[in-house]
Amino acid sequence: MLLRAALTIAIGASTAHAALARDIAVADQAQFKAAVKAAKPGDSIILADGEWRDFQVVFTGTGTADKPITLTARTKGKVVLTGQSNLRMGGRHLVVSGLLFRGGASPTNQVISFRRDSKTLAFDSRVTEVVIDGYSKPDRRAEDIWVALYGTGNRVDHSHFEGKTNAGVTLAVIRRAGDPLDNRHRIDHNYFGPRPPLGSNGGETIRIGTSEESLSASNSIVERNIFDRTSGEVEIVSIKSGGNVVRENLVLESQGAFVLRHGNGNLVERNIFFGNNAPDTGGVRVINRDQIVRENYFEGLAGKDFKSAISVMNGVPDSTINRYHQVSGARIERNSVIDSARITLAAGADAERSAPPVGSRFERNLIVGTRGADPFRADGDIGGIAFAGNIEARTANPLISNGVEQRDVKLERAENGLLYPVDPALAAIGAPRDLVPVKREEVGVAWHRSSASEAAFGTGRTTSVKPGASLAAAVDKSRAGDTLSLAAGAYDLAAPLTLRHRLTIAGTKGAAPVLRIAGGLAQIDGGGGLRIENIEIDARSVGAALSLVAVGRAVAPNYRIQFDGVTVRGPGKASRVDAIASAPGTFAESIEIRGSHFADMGTIISATAEQESKGWYAAERTVIADSHFDRVALVADLLRKGTDESTFGPWFAMTGSQVADSGNGDASLRLSGAQHVDIAGNRFVRSAPVAVIHSVGTPNTRIANNLFNHTRAPRIEELAWKGPARAELSGNIMEGRP
Ligand code: CA
Repeated sequence: MLLRAALTIAIGASTAHAALARDIAVADQAQFKAAVKAAKPGDSIILADGEWRDFQVVFTGTGTADKPITLTARTKGKVVLTGQSNLRMGGRHLVVSGLLFRGGASPTNQVISFRRDSKTLAFDSRVTEVVIDGYSKPDRRAEDIWVALYGTGNRVDHSHFEGKTNAGVTLAVIRRAGDPLDNRHRIDHNYFGPRPPLGSNGGETIRIGTSEESLSASNSIVERNIFDRTSGEVEIVSIKSGGNVVRENLVLESQGAFVLRHGNGNLVERNIFFGNNAPDTGGVRVINRDQIVRENYFEGLAGKDFKSAISVMNGVPDSTINRYHQVSGARIERNSVIDSARITLAAGADAERSAPPVGSRFERNLIVGTRGADPFRADGDIGGIAFAGNIEARTANPLISNGVEQRDVKLERAENGLLYPVDPALAAIGAPRDLVPVKREEVGVAWHRSSASEAAFGTGRTTSVKPGASLAAAVDKSRAGDTLSLAAGAYDLAAPLTLRHRLTIAGTKGAAPVLRIAGGLAQIDGGGGLRIENIEIDARSVGAALSLVAVGRAVAPNYRIQFDGVTVRGPGKASRVDAIASAPGTFAESIEIRGSHFADMGTIISATAEQESKGWYAAERTVIADSHFDRVALVADLLRKGTDESTFGPWFAMTGSQVADSGNGDASLRLSGAQHVDIAGNRFVRSAPVAVIHSVGTPNTRIANNLFNHTRAPRIEELAWKGPARAELSGNIMEGRP
């Protein structure tokens, strides 16, 4: 009541001094509504510090260039929009600043929208110093966009976005037929923080447009942002319109690439990429007409194929709007590609993508491959690319000799942190000396640093638990990163432990604690993760089909499971008592089994819960090392359906392990749709075969140096590829009749 009176007085006062900009303080949603209604150009609506729960902010008005209407926080960062909150703005010259979205998710399909509704868009408006941190829908398949730009002349700057784990672009420029298309938006000085792999298409960090309107120019600018581990999918930035400028951004260890997916006449210049040789780190991928890629710096990029440092794609003749238009008139000039795995030309050439690049130039680039290797690859005809004035560090049998001169290149790191040739004769080759990497303090906000990511295993306190004590009570009392240290003896577990943070349960050195379980061992809930170490699990009396470690439906964020030095005895191979099972809508960063022994169990790792066909999968990395499996139905059952090409994984590796008397008839290990498979140095004895099923992309499968004793040879199936099965099988030994 008091505040309402204050508001009335403030407005009353201003009528006498109409030119005065007013600060309108509001403390609840009703006051906010009234303030929006009353706001005049130059006014600021100021939200009280504290938590604003379930607040769907609708901010409309008409300011002027000199006197915008502002919505801001009493104290920047202290106004927290949480629960089911979001923000829509419509009108002209609106500014939003200082807000923090955390601890919830939008109830709609956008968090911040530059439109109130389909008729009321925002123009010449700005979102600045806003943070969206981990504000993800818990079911990762439920899609939303964190910042949706409509209208024209809008700006998103000095904001901080990180931790999106559900589907949908982090920041998108939306260009629908009928809306203004010459957008001229500016996206600058933002911190795009870690975005983990989504495990499907729809994990882009920025997208400008969609294919339908891609032949018109958006003329938007993406400049001086930091992309830090933005690894949602193969497109970090997806340009689907023309006339855009992507300039002077800094990309750190991000899987994927900047992709000129649709639209013509875009400029990508003076960006700096550091991959630290992390898998699938890429640079720029070129498709369509008249694209310029110049003066960029690429270092330590390990990506290949579509995630190469530079890739120039083959197109589809007379392509439909949503496939691949032929590359024509591309200019790729003065880039430095250093310590990077690949430059792929005519990338993706196949029966459909049969139109090679034409009328394109590749000039004065500096190329230094990883460990002296030649990074150039051509998937098809590259006669339409003219090479001139390029320098490549000497390599044996270079792919391109015309226009790419081989010589010794000595590099040194300059003041700006980038590598340049020592030889002054090369001064005009590769990225220019005056690049200035954007600094962390120039982007995002000063008042917010990444919310502590889930504490890693083993980073907290260690608590001893003695036989007879309640494990469930110890788990309840534990905190993220803690370890429960079990002494020798037997522990009976009546019900599964519920884990809402990362926890280690470990047998103390030399002890062999035995967990006797009648039902499940643990349930992973939101935020949960389990590492179990040096423990024996007696599951012989489990009477029903279940998974020892189960995952709740739609729990976020992503989880991890590790077994290390664990022995598990189950009730039998046909029991359908599994060890680890994924759940729909969830995603494991990794599932690891090391130095462990499983006997008489169903499936050890069951990751088949995602059954739809859009390429979703359950775990990014699955690792099995130095373990034994006796009489189990399947060592692992991984499934990724569909023909999507947007993901990096799943990855699967199994080494130094033994599988005996196992399999369900059809297979003892079944991997379907994995992108990377490495099965090496294992023994399979009297077991069903290994089955690897390829569906899409360029799967990388290696099965090497294994012994198959009384076990059939591995089976490789190709669901889409028409050629011979793509797998490296080498050094395997077959002995005994299967
Ligand atoms: Ca995509």
